[in-house]
Amino acid sequence: MKTFIKLSIFIVFLITIACNTNPNKETNTNSSIKTEKIVNSDYLLMSTLWFQKSAEMQAVYLQTYHFAKLIIDNKLNLNNNDKPKAVVVDIDETVLDNSSFEAHCITKNTSYTSEEWKAWVDKSEAKALPGALDFLKYAKEKGVETIYISNRKKNTQVSTLTNLRKLEFPFADDTHLFLRDSVSTKRYRREAVLDKYDVILYIGDNLTDYSEIFENRNSKLAKDIVEKNKAVLGVDFLILPNPMYGEWEKPVFDNNMRLPKAEKDSLRKAILNTY
Ligand SMILES: [Mg+2]
Repeated sequence: MKTFIKLSIFIVFLITIACNTNPNKETNTNSSIKTEKIVNSDYLLMSTLWFQKSAEMQAVYLQTYHFAKLIIDNKLNLNNNDKPKAVVVDIDETVLDNSSFEAHCITKNTSYTSEEWKAWVDKSEAKALPGALDFLKYAKEKGVETIYISNRKKNTQVSTLTNLRKLEFPFADDTHLFLRDSVSTKRYRREAVLDKYDVILYIGDNLTDYSEIFENRNSKLAKDIVEKNKAVLGVDFLILPNPMYGEWEKPVFDNNMRLPKAEKDSLRKAILNTY
């Protein structure tokens, strides 16, 4: 009997070792640790939190779109150009709120990929940003058309229009929507719009929503270009805040957005001004 008990204990011991050294289990544990080290989206946390939860964000959007009404009223009084009037707006983080996508990246500990982004866009579930809809409806009442120039890809044309229409944005149709074709610069799409329209105001969360001159993010981070062109701010162009992502990130990574995530993380800290 004693021998039988000893043998049973020995067998249980062997089974326990076998379970603990299961190669699949080991691999899974290692890969999840590795994933956590390499892909860390926590850098998005505060900016996304601010974008979604701060009343200040709501206030600055409302303030901007309120000011937009004053600008178009003023321009319509002054302007006698015969072309039809238009405002050019960017879409993402200008009229539509995609912060849920950033939150998804944080909670799933993933980063932006064009596939993940398309999956989000195809849901057509982005909400309108504060003040945007009210302003564009106001502009329409004043006879001003809306032109949407966005760097969403052409393969999201239908889902983008579905999203805009669901929220009742005016002029949400193929002739008023200019998505990205072969190049990401918005320059040529703006020029095409200017052939037909008198654009009285541009609104975007990126300086390049107004002009390609801001594409050059030099060692001065394009702040010198802003200084030189500050006269257009609040007159021809309204800029909205986007701390989550944008062209502003480029010089942080020396214009190489494809750097490994760990390197990007180091560069974010290295560029800070401190004492
Ligand atoms: Mg944008």
